[in-house]
Amino acid sequence: MPPPAPERAGLAVIGAGPAGLAAAVTAAEGGLDVVLIDAADAPGGQFYRAPAPGLGATRPEALHHGWAAFTALTARLGRQREAGRLCHVTGHQVWAVRRTGEDWTLHLVTGPDGRGGAAVRARRLVVATGAHERQLPFPGWTLPGVVGAAGAQAMLKSGLVLPGRRVVVAGSGPLLQAVALSLARAGAEVPALVEAAGYGAYARAPLVLAANPDRLGEGVRHRAGLARHGVRMLTHRAVTAVHGTERVEGVTVSRLDRAWRPVPGTGRRVDCDALAVGHGLVPQLDLALGLGCSTRPGTDGSAALLLDEELRTTVPGVWAAGETGGIGGVRLALAEGELAALSVIADARDGRPGRTTARVARLRRARRRMRRFAGLMGAVHRPGPGWSAWLAPDTEVCRCEEVTAGAVRTAVDELGAGDSRTAKLLTRAGMGWCQGRTCGFAVRELAGGATDGAAPDRRPLACPVTLSTLARAAGPEDA
Ligand SMILES: Cc1cc2nc3c(=O)[nH]c(=O)nc-3n(C[C@H](O)[C@H](O)[C@H](O)COP(=O)(O)OP(=O)(O)OC[C@H]3O[C@@H](n4cnc5c(N)ncnc54)[C@H](O)[C@@H]3O)c2cc1C
Repeated sequence: MPPPAPERAGLAVIGAGPAGLAAAVTAAEGGLDVVLIDAADAPGGQFYRAPAPGLGATRPEALHHGWAAFTALTARLGRQREAGRLCHVTGHQVWAVRRTGEDWTLHLVTGPDGRGGAAVRARRLVVATGAHERQLPFPGWTLPGVVGAAGAQAMLKSGLVLPGRRVVVAGSGPLLQAVALSLARAGAEVPALVEAAGYGAYARAPLVLAANPDRLGEGVRHRAGLARHGVRMLTHRAVTAVHGTERVEGVTVSRLDRAWRPVPGTGRRVDCDALAVGHGLVPQLDLALGLGCSTRPGTDGSAALLLDEELRTTVPGVWAAGETGGIGGVRLALAEGELAALSVIADARDGRPGRTTARVARLRRARRRMRRFAGLMGAVHRPGPGWSAWLAPDTEVCRCEEVTAGAVRTAVDELGAGDSRTAKLLTRAGMGWCQGRTCGFAVRELAGGATDGAAPDRRPLACPVTLSTLARAAGPEDA
């Protein structure tokens, strides 16, 4: 049974990944009364995802690097919990947040059928809801055996399972190298890592690279590890089709031009029984957008929260940290969580921005340095405009509602849809269970509307809830 949520706290932190954990622990150590809420049953978020307890894993650290930092954080979490300053509410998803006087009221659901729930009031809020994977569709991407690249990593870390025996890893972004290496180390054969961009583009920003030697070193270690496991690294290429009847039997890998259009006649078949594919991560902004927080365009083409140096959003009383402010990796998430908490502590003390102590100055410097690297990474791996040339008319773009690329193109070319919202109304693309999280980017690009860092639609609910939950949460003003 997940622990019950308290009725009130000084600070509510949503998300117990690296950013949220760092924020919650720092704030509690600074004397605040904190509630940390996460949909998962254990702390750690995506990066520090541990094997499910029932699997009896004896060495969870074997699938991780930086595990010592995580155990140090969870030890601090334990101490704050025991001291009664921090309540970690696991297995609860926040589905809405509303203003109630000077407080925020967070509405939570829990349980297998989502019927359990609670409401927590808090004076201040840190949104650390992380990111989800960006998928670009292509012929065959809905066949069994095609999984998200980050999803494959998550399956391995939490379920200790591989998506197949011979797995092609494809898409774009440095995460692919970590995924390919984890799969190979866990015993999968990885015949190729197919990267749509090229790593040479990083060399155009030597100062940013020089300021982030840890990222450079990580890249070198990954490349060496991949070479040791015989993983071929193919750049400026993409998987443009998946073959198979019941499940994946092979993929076509094509060379791409600079705009990511496949070069005719370059397709080569690679046999495999699984494909792990992803084109980077996208900030998870449902709750923040619902609160009215403004966004900025990221260099990778997605929207990220607009934050000041103290990690305040544009909504008073709401801070954010980690991937919600733009995709940047675990170390950046940890630094931002700590910085956000220090700002919250100062705000709670006298309602003013905090003093720039040596600790704050060091964290800000680290943040600026890592954010510059994140900007470079986003620009290098941003999907090229020619990716949609991979699509066939019958390729499903929205898999929830089974809407094809042909249907979206008809809505645009023949019915005059000039933006994704009209395309959605005409085709139902983005109206299914995932509410456009998977297909939103692709539909926006196909509809030809504003795609450059445009914020996703604002939704009143961050996840599906039952009518009874809605009715329970409704205040007298909603009647
Ligand atoms: C599937 C996946 C796998 C990844 N694997 C790797 C990897 O192997 N190596 C690597 O370097 N990077 C990896 N990353 C990136 C890495 O996770 C991030 O850099 C880092 O974890 C960011 O920390 P964060 O705290 O911002 O977000 P996260 O770690 O994503 O934490 C966000 C937390 O918020 C919770 N949450 C979100 N919405 C709600 C809600 N409404 N209610 C309650 N809780 C909520 C989630 O359950 C999650 O625990 C992965 C990302 C993803 C999406």
